[in-house]
Amino acid sequence: MSITLLARKQVQALTPYQSARRIGGQGHIWLNANEAAECGTYELDCTRLNRYPECQPPQVVNAYAAYAGVSPEQLLVTRGGDEGIELLIRTFCEPGQDNIVICSPTYGMYAISAETNGVGIIDVPLNAKRQPDVDAIIDKLDNTKLIFLCSPNNPTGDLVDSSDLCRLLDAARDRALVVVDEAYIEFCPEFSQARLLADYPQLVIIRTLSKAFGLAGLRCGFTLATPEVIGLLLKVIPPYPIPEPVAQIAAQALNEQGLALMHTRVAEINQLKHTLGEHLRAHPQVQDVFAANGNYLLVRFSQGAALFARMAKAGIILRDFANRPGLADCIRITIGTQTEMDAVLEVLQQEQ
Ligand SMILES: *Cc1c(COP(=O)(O)O)cnc(C)c1O
Repeated sequence: MSITLLARKQVQALTPYQSARRIGGQGHIWLNANEAAECGTYELDCTRLNRYPECQPPQVVNAYAAYAGVSPEQLLVTRGGDEGIELLIRTFCEPGQDNIVICSPTYGMYAISAETNGVGIIDVPLNAKRQPDVDAIIDKLDNTKLIFLCSPNNPTGDLVDSSDLCRLLDAARDRALVVVDEAYIEFCPEFSQARLLADYPQLVIIRTLSKAFGLAGLRCGFTLATPEVIGLLLKVIPPYPIPEPVAQIAAQALNEQGLALMHTRVAEINQLKHTLGEHLRAHPQVQDVFAANGNYLLVRFSQGAALFARMAKAGIILRDFANRPGLADCIRITIGTQTEMDAVLEVLQQEQ
């Protein structure tokens, strides 16, 4: 008998998340995972590594709470934003009974985490304006515990409209939690929905250090919610989720100097994104440049597959979204350095 047959049926059937690392590729310019192009420098004190770390390192909790404008009781530090997503599903969804709602095309981990935990997935695709279809979601609230919205949405870049969100929050009161994934919110901080946390205990916000803070390799994220929700998640989170070196580096990323570095990086990326967007819009083979609210641009080319292959041949690895519903010929380009953006434009010019 094969050991594979011993695994849970769900796991046997599962197609794992196609992360940029898993897909891989051969290249020297990596613009496929929305990572920052460069890394900051950090100091490590290794004198306490013999001891278990705090479950919720206070220096990180306090620094991020101050940065996000919430109280420490409204905050959970997790192993990346992905662990926050997984914990919400494991805490609120009864396997084989409850559902989550997702609005495709969107970030893949909501569905993967639901699937591995035996939780149903109801897809209510974004409407023609690429906004969540609030009325259709409200129709699906029976047996739904979590509604995942992503703002800016990965990969389309669109923001959730505040009045739509409030309408959904009102309908979901005492029935479901509305999770707004703000992994990219530092690139457009004025659109954060965090101020709504004070009025809506059914609102949860996901954040991360992986994107604007340039620390994808650190694996550190945050869940913002009412203290009642945070208390429930704390019952489910493992006892030592945040390794001591991670806590030390996260605290440095969130001190005054770290925040200043992040703001400088965001300003540079937004400028490069703006310039790239203008070049792309002027290019005859570009049909559409999607909303520019994150550190990436989703672009529809007249011949996406050919363009993707040419880029790969030039050593530039992008992310192909062509096989997602509604995203034929669409490629996502992470905003890297000036040199990397020049390399992208050079390949594009050869296309003309
Ligand atoms: C990158 C990302 C995350 C979380 O990433 P972590 O590295 O696990 O913090 C969450 N949501 C979206 C939409 C993302 O793009």
